[in-house]
Amino acid sequence: MAYRIPEGCIYCGNCAEECPNDAIYEGNEKYEIDPDKCTECVGFFSTPQCAATCSVEIPEPDPDHQETKEQLLAKFKKLHPGKEPKLF
Ligand code: SF4
Ligand code: SF4
Repeated sequence: MAYRIPEGCIYCGNCAEECPNDAIYEGNEKYEIDPDKCTECVGFFSTPQCAATCSVEIPEPDPDHQETKEQLLAKFKKLHPGKEPKLF
């Protein structure tokens, strides 16, 4: 499941720096997550780094983009051809 950033973002940009997939970008009033690039950090980390780094703790699973771990792993492989995923 991709993550999303709801209202309440203080526009600090910390999460964008931590995202291993460059999935987070500056939106108009808050940062946004591109669901096509978000793997929930599968392949890199055991937990979503955006949620872990956000001081207001708002990044959350996006119910409109539900995916299995296998689908997230497939997305990782598509985004990073030839790179071995870290499995947890
Ligand atoms: S969950 Fe991971 S891959 Fe998805 S936006 Fe957050 S930091 Fe990036
Ligand atoms: S770390 Fe949190 S407050 Fe900062 S830009 Fe990301 S979602 Fe917004």
